[in-house]
Amino acid sequence: MVDLSKSKEMFETARKYLPGGVSSPVRAIKPYPFYTKEASGSHITDVDGNSYIDYCLAYGPAMLGHANPVLREAIEKQLDKGWIYGTPTEIEFSLAERIASIYPSIDMLRLVSTGTEATMSAIRAARGFTGKNKFIKIEGGFHGAHDAVLVKAGSGASTHGKPDSLGIPEDFTKHTLQTPFNDIEAMADLITSSDDIAAVILEPVMGNIGPVLPEEGYLQEVRKLTEENDVLLIFDEVITGFRLAMGGAQEYYGVTPDLTTLGKIIGGGLPIGVFGGKREIIEMISPSGSVYQAGTFSGHPLSVAAGHATLDLMKEENVHSKLNATGDMVRSRLSEIVADKKLDYTVSGVSSMFKIFFGDKPLNYQDVLKCDKEGYFQFFHKMLDAGVFLPPSQFETNFLSTAHTEEDLENTFEAYEQCLQ
Ligand SMILES: *Cc1c(COP(=O)(O)O)cnc(C)c1O
Repeated sequence: MVDLSKSKEMFETARKYLPGGVSSPVRAIKPYPFYTKEASGSHITDVDGNSYIDYCLAYGPAMLGHANPVLREAIEKQLDKGWIYGTPTEIEFSLAERIASIYPSIDMLRLVSTGTEATMSAIRAARGFTGKNKFIKIEGGFHGAHDAVLVKAGSGASTHGKPDSLGIPEDFTKHTLQTPFNDIEAMADLITSSDDIAAVILEPVMGNIGPVLPEEGYLQEVRKLTEENDVLLIFDEVITGFRLAMGGAQEYYGVTPDLTTLGKIIGGGLPIGVFGGKREIIEMISPSGSVYQAGTFSGHPLSVAAGHATLDLMKEENVHSKLNATGDMVRSRLSEIVADKKLDYTVSGVSSMFKIFFGDKPLNYQDVLKCDKEGYFQFFHKMLDAGVFLPPSQFETNFLSTAHTEEDLENTFEAYEQCLQ
């Protein structure tokens, strides 16, 4: 067992001042989380001096490794010029221009500070543009922590919105409709059930319950259905954008949404969010239109500078073909380990996202709920003891970064061999 005594002590103090001792609930690990001292490359080191190979990677952003020296240099260069202005800059619109050239579905965009803001604003833009009130999300889909998307998952085919948190009036979620992933008939029934539906928002690969992958043709069918019914399609690519390919899941699967949200990776580890899409929709955003949206830290110079450097580095180093190949290798090695041990587990993933489900291959949220969550959590702790930091839940995807070495991967497979049973 690794010694976590300093973390334990810190937790006792932290929980007096921060709810649960953390700044975001996913970071709370029972009985207490490790508190981080530093991170570099593929490794994260805690205050007790334990170093772990990191497959959590801050839940996605650190795709080029922790403390990447190229990103660091770009951030330092920007620091010399000041780091907050409250006035527009060239690096903002040039980053927008670059993103638009990578995502053919994006003519225009707005830079914001988080993925939460991006999805909140994309949904507002969709409602403003269509003049309709309702939207459809996928059960178990995560789009940040704003009122309209924090809706309980039901167990029926399609459910109407009940808030999944105290403090959200039911009135605020009554326009949020839900349907299961990978069920095109349920989607068709729901989409045609009302003429007040502005948009469908979905994660093309469900990253916050897995990864759970779209079945062949599902995204294409959703695109067709939305088009036929005058409903906008929003791809929430806060995880998959710049991950599956430069142009995200829409490039990878060849499906073009009307609106896209991005975040995580494109800030190079600094806070960022992006929403963008068709010109006629995004032009409705204030000040050019009447859909209000604003933010003091939007287009933050440090995040934007790190975003440019991220794009440079990804292109120069051909990051996606390399990482996607590593992902294939990792999934096949893990599948061999699972098969050797005769476990009824499922290795899932795409590109540089992977996960072992403690159960059958899931197609949607209800399937994932059937997995052995408690068993998974015990396995997580064993892996931590073996020096590998996986996200602490059956519901979070593992990520690869360009900083993971062959040696890291071999050590990781060995840990899986040891810890899986
Ligand atoms: C992380 C995430 C968000 C929220 O982004 P924040 O920057 O944490 O606000 C939204 N959508 C998806 C798919 C995410 O994974």
